[in-house]
Amino acid sequence: MAEGLIQLAPALARSNGRFAPSPTGPLHLGNLRTALIAWCCARSTGSGFAIRIEDLDRARCRAGSAEQQLNDLTALGLEWDRPVVVQSERTALYADALGQLRSNGLLYECWCTRAEIREASSAPHGAANRYPGSCRDLSAAQLAKRRASGRKPALRVRAEGARLQFFDRAGGEQEGAVDDFVVARQDGAFAYHLAVVVDDADQSIDEVVRGDDLLDSTGAQCWLQDQLGLTRPSYVHVPLLRDESGTRMSKRDSSVTLGGQQQLSVSADQVRSKLIASIGLCDEGEQIDDQELLSRFNSILVESIP
Ligand code: GLU
Repeated sequence: MAEGLIQLAPALARSNGRFAPSPTGPLHLGNLRTALIAWCCARSTGSGFAIRIEDLDRARCRAGSAEQQLNDLTALGLEWDRPVVVQSERTALYADALGQLRSNGLLYECWCTRAEIREASSAPHGAANRYPGSCRDLSAAQLAKRRASGRKPALRVRAEGARLQFFDRAGGEQEGAVDDFVVARQDGAFAYHLAVVVDDADQSIDEVVRGDDLLDSTGAQCWLQDQLGLTRPSYVHVPLLRDESGTRMSKRDSSVTLGGQQQLSVSADQVRSKLIASIGLCDEGEQIDDQELLSRFNSILVESIP
């Protein structure tokens, strides 16, 4: 291993896929469909399948939610084959990665509030939704003044306007600009981008299958992988399931969860069949076992999943 790379657990012998829910409420049918596709991608190629609970944003997590999500995955037959990983128990790994970025001069402190960032990025020459760089090059005096204020800073990466290419198996070649994103929040919590790349590497995940709402996050994650000397997994961003009116499903609508469906007398097997039908691999109501599912999955191209 090259010098300076963070020390990760010895690589597991096999390749692995994963599903990484945030325990902020019950999984809705869209999340469950993504989990099903991730499971099929891994299992159809003989890879392992891991579950990771992404609970670093404590304010959004709900008690009991992780257990319920695991029960729902089990009820649909989406079994995993290694211990479930919980991000809040792995903060030492993220601290190591942060230390590596710091030693490489890639971090700076940022005291900007959301309102300040919004205001600066909506100014005529500001780029919408991008960090305007207000804290990027503070003088020693400005830094000392902010540090003395007692307010804790967030830590941002110095991405220097990098542009990054990556390949998505569903969407093809992608390119995007990398913003100076936050890796440690003002409250001290490690941010999603940092934790996800450290965990994917530590868990030997070589294919990330997730909803296409996360496609825009991937450039930042690939940039981090490059800076930390981590191997990039391959990516597949799959379309999100929408409800009948065409809008994205929300965990707040309990009728679109497994529990909600069961209350409407739709069994777990029927929900499984619905999800498999939504990717075009069975007729609605048709029950197929794992072997049949994987053999049908092998006959389609992941980029053709509707
Ligand atoms: N925890 C994220 C979510 O539930 C998914 C992260 C990922 O798959 O990389 O939206």
